Amino acid sequence: MPSKADIIIIGGGVMGCAIAYNLAKAGLKPVVIEKSDIGGEASGSNGGGVRQSARNLKEMPLAMESIQIYGQLHEELGMDVEYVRQGNLRLCTTDEELEAMRQAVENQKKVGLELVMLDRKQVLELNPHVGDKIIGASYCPTDGHVNPFLVTYGFFLKAKSLGARFFTHEEAKEIRMQKGRVTAVVTDKNVFETDLVVDAAGIAGRKVANMVGLDLPLRSIFSEALITEAYPPLFKQMVGHAKGLFYGRQTAHGSFFWGGFVGTEQFIYREGKPLFHYIGPAISQMVIDFFPVLKDLNVIRMWSGLIAQMSDAIPVLGFTQEVPGFVFATGFSGHGFGLAPVIGRLISELILDCKTSIPINDFCYGRFQNGSDHECSCPGNAACTTVTAVCPNKREWLKSI
Ligand SMILES: Cc1cc2nc3c(=O)[nH]c(=O)nc-3n(C[C@H](O)[C@H](O)[C@H](O)COP(=O)(O)OP(=O)(O)OC[C@H]3O[C@@H](n4cnc5c(N)ncnc54)[C@H](O)[C@@H]3O)c2cc1C
Repeated sequence: MPSKADIIIIGGGVMGCAIAYNLAKAGLKPVVIEKSDIGGEASGSNGGGVRQSARNLKEMPLAMESIQIYGQLHEELGMDVEYVRQGNLRLCTTDEELEAMRQAVENQKKVGLELVMLDRKQVLELNPHVGDKIIGASYCPTDGHVNPFLVTYGFFLKAKSLGARFFTHEEAKEIRMQKGRVTAVVTDKNVFETDLVVDAAGIAGRKVANMVGLDLPLRSIFSEALITEAYPPLFKQMVGHAKGLFYGRQTAHGSFFWGGFVGTEQFIYREGKPLFHYIGPAISQMVIDFFPVLKDLNVIRMWSGLIAQMSDAIPVLGFTQEVPGFVFATGFSGHGFGLAPVIGRLISELILDCKTSIPINDFCYGRFQNGSDHECSCPGNAACTTVTAVCPNKREWLKSI
């Protein structure tokens, strides 16, 4: 016997949970289908960096709003999420890196982000532990970091307390349609009738889009991470290499999280599978070069995560003209955690009212059909491709029941 659901969200990562929370807060009863555990993929394997700096400029308004929400998230979710807003240092070791960083800083300042270039002396004033190689850095004082497990779980628990239902270890296998519209989601255990499906499936975002006959230029790319034993408090900034080869932070517990891509050039593939032996040591060596004081710290655990990488490295968000009832919230391209609170809010605004408080036009699905210069047709407001035909207007519907 099929169950009925106001909305089905496929994916119980931070995005699915944040969207479920916002919808449940508005009175809807979303159902989240998660094939593993809550936060079992990228949302449970990431660095917790909450940054605005070094983003695609199109994402900047979202990132700036997201840190405002992060600032009061502990109150909203009723739990400490270990949010620390003490800046992000992107460290340079060569003149070439410094010059590229200077240019990037100027571009980001033009869209309203507060950040500065620092010389070595100024870097040392903020973080006296950097090694001799560091000649300068960019510094964004309002960037920071958070505990990703607590954030994802916080959204999950709060959504659940407001009436959202979560089905874990259950995989969405098929999306049924009638006359081009979404009508049901079939899992390996249930059939849910619904007129609205959110694709929050992370690296599987493309597979889920394929279920309704759409396709995305999304591929998964590999990223390695490690955690050390605890160390007395050293610094509170998020830190990393100018080109993002490695990045990290000290956690509230004292351990250091380090992640990155350095060493991937030394990948050895055997029978199509990468051997990861080189990456952890390569990241560790870079950490030791940049922060020599940490040279004797033991690594406790290493893991790898997969990033949902879009061809243009920005997410795909919102409705599509092609399939009424299908909503994208995927493809966060390795830096989505910082955006999660604002994505939860914007996607729920779209579903409830067919418009968003911050424009999301730049992230529409239409850009893949019509070329990268394509402007989504959303005159004057945010609701990308939202026309009556695809807009479910769930707030009006709520009033009518
Ligand atoms: C190692 C690493 C470090 C990172 N560091 C940072 C960082 O410091 N800062 C930052 O901002 N971002 C970072 N990111 C990126 C960030 O983790 C992601 O952008 C974010 O977590 C994406 O959340 P999501 O909910 O879209 O995806 P996910 O967390 O991957 O959730 C998608 C969920 O969908 C489920 N799913 C998929 N298909 C189905 C199906 N058919 N049926 C049911 N369930 C399904 C999956 O099991 C998964 O749990 C990092 C990523 C990695 C891998």
